[in-house]
Amino acid sequence: MRTGPLTRREFLQSTVVASSGVAIAHATPSGFWEQFALARGSEAVPAWASKPMRWMQLTLVEDDPAHFAPEFWLDYFKRTQTDAVCLSGGGCVAYYPTEIPFHHRSAWLGQRDVLGELIAGCRKMGTSVLVRTDPHATYDDLKTAHPDWIAADADGKPRRHWSSPEMWVTCAYGPYNFEFMTAVHKEIMSRYQPDGIFLNRWDGNGVCYCIHCVENFKTATGFELSRATSLQDPARRAWFQWRQQRLISLLDHWNSAIRTINPEASMIPNNGSGATSSLNALETSRRAPMLVVDRQARHGLAAPWLMGKTAKEFRATMGNKPAIGLFGVGLEEAYRWKDSVNSNAEIRIWVLESIANGMRPWCSKFSGTLHDERWLKGVEEIYLWAAKNQGYLADRQPLARVGVVYSQQTAWYYGDEHADARVENYCLGWYQALVESRIPFEMVHDQLLDPGRLAAFRTLILPNIAALSDAQCNQLRAFVATGGNLIATHETSLYDEAGKRRSNFALAGLFGVDWTGKLEGPMLNSYIRLEHEAHPHHQLFGGLEDAPRIINGVSRVQVNPRETFAETPFTLIPSYPDLPMEKVYPRTARTDVSCLYLRRPAGRVAYFPFDIDRTFWEVLSEDHLKVMRNTIHWASDEPPIVSVEGPGLLDVTAWRNAASITIHLVNLTNPMAMKGPYRDFFPVGQQSIKLNLPDKIEAKQARLLVADKRIELSHSGSTLTFSVPVILDHEVVAIDL
Ligand SMILES: [Zn+2]
Repeated sequence: MRTGPLTRREFLQSTVVASSGVAIAHATPSGFWEQFALARGSEAVPAWASKPMRWMQLTLVEDDPAHFAPEFWLDYFKRTQTDAVCLSGGGCVAYYPTEIPFHHRSAWLGQRDVLGELIAGCRKMGTSVLVRTDPHATYDDLKTAHPDWIAADADGKPRRHWSSPEMWVTCAYGPYNFEFMTAVHKEIMSRYQPDGIFLNRWDGNGVCYCIHCVENFKTATGFELSRATSLQDPARRAWFQWRQQRLISLLDHWNSAIRTINPEASMIPNNGSGATSSLNALETSRRAPMLVVDRQARHGLAAPWLMGKTAKEFRATMGNKPAIGLFGVGLEEAYRWKDSVNSNAEIRIWVLESIANGMRPWCSKFSGTLHDERWLKGVEEIYLWAAKNQGYLADRQPLARVGVVYSQQTAWYYGDEHADARVENYCLGWYQALVESRIPFEMVHDQLLDPGRLAAFRTLILPNIAALSDAQCNQLRAFVATGGNLIATHETSLYDEAGKRRSNFALAGLFGVDWTGKLEGPMLNSYIRLEHEAHPHHQLFGGLEDAPRIINGVSRVQVNPRETFAETPFTLIPSYPDLPMEKVYPRTARTDVSCLYLRRPAGRVAYFPFDIDRTFWEVLSEDHLKVMRNTIHWASDEPPIVSVEGPGLLDVTAWRNAASITIHLVNLTNPMAMKGPYRDFFPVGQQSIKLNLPDKIEAKQARLLVADKRIELSHSGSTLTFSVPVILDHEVVAIDL
């Protein structure tokens, strides 16, 4: 494996979109149930990665070797039935007697081999073992010997560490990682034979202006390093892409180095998730037999379902390979209380969301010496419940028929420095609406829109997926042509994959409208009229029967219809003055401008030319929620596989494996639901559940896995009906097949 710079030609070779080319009739429920047979075993995952269901990470601090008791941790791993561990090895501090020059041994290590002791204890228990390395910081002696291994700021000066001032930030893209850390990884691998290396903070700290970066970047791209922060700047965009290629080639380099020692081993890179993540998720997913989702806790105004969203995003690119949900036990805020302990309820809801959304839990603790033990019991309880019910939680596939598309290229090249406001908030609006509507759904990566990947889905939602290539639009057209349904909002397909605005939507034919060239917004005091007279009892009006009008969104794309639309349930009431109050009366009571274009070319298409989803996330109007929910039901046009009726805010997920169907009901109902942390749980009453099964699948019996008791099933044709009397924090209905 070569470690030198990429040539210009290599750099220009773009990523090829993977396509399985499998065509499956996704539109029919029977096609949906049959695909489970196809989905299994598509990729070989070594047993060390596929078997463990409960992970535990112990990240040592430098003085731990003098104080901490390894037997306490080994006992805790055992008590919690942990079957895989991640232990601190090296990088910025080595916890074993390393022989590599400048690999800094813990100053408290003495004659001990802490890593070796812990690994030996874990191997006796039969756990999988990853060793954690962190290459992002180093010391004076290495800087003196290799000044070019240190990251440099825009003036070319070496960068001090922002938190530990005696340390230096290393360059992630040059010889420090490619040479020094390769030697560290090989030494750890040959001494201890772990199953893999978990990489923390390996992917750099922004632009580095060291001599290697300046030269390698110039050779690959022809550009000088730019100080611009927007990807609209060609040199900055080139750096953004070069960095990704550099890091992916680093992963490949490390993988081939450790696999000369253990062919089944793998580097497990720790990086972000979702549309705004700066590394292509397809590239990292392709290179690992499992990935770890590092979202230690929610913070600020994060919703309690955010861990579930992350799970869905990782599954979108990992497929059947395990996604592991890394949670911390402390508060996760900008003030970095790394030794804190969160409330038990908050830790618990976070982990329950993770498990309900298909992830295996990974508890991450810093410091082998505990300053606060309050979390130990709560984590043990969750792990023991998960261990007891492991058969229901393993090897399963989602029963979701709705997919929400997310797009890194849209976040990068269209959202750019405003990706949250212009991209992510649209997605969060749909996410909240789907959770509130109790509709099980999955996330779909926009680079994976081939028929095989889309086979499971009846309906795809595109929340302002502005940047789409012609090829991606062809895939979406093919999806609709074969009976798939599509919901899209705002500027979807108005830009190409590089973020360059088109003169019209690439999906204009599907939407049935053309862009006039005009954008409107922010619109104040604008409304939507419900056309009850023209469309009495239209499906879109469910729950809005007595509403003559509702609030509009904030930004609108002006469009001209290409055809006469048979259904125009919503029309625009344009903005009118909102002050002085004497002037606040509509100047135009009614227009024929549609706010939702509904078509049925083969599958169904619903296009909102405005930001209903983003506005919903900002304002959370119940009227918008009802319109979004009704649109999903109109588009999907089939009885849901699972419906859950009852009080409260529940995240509902549904799964199938070879022997069972499981339905998770996570009770998010809480005064702290939209801003944590939870203090306690508040039980919700009876939930009535309907499950539509195809004829060939027979339900034998059902259990509640939390209440730990049998429940009665009523059969009516292919529909199973049953109820859950009460839910405190979560309940799981397990139906044996
Ligand atoms: Zn550098």
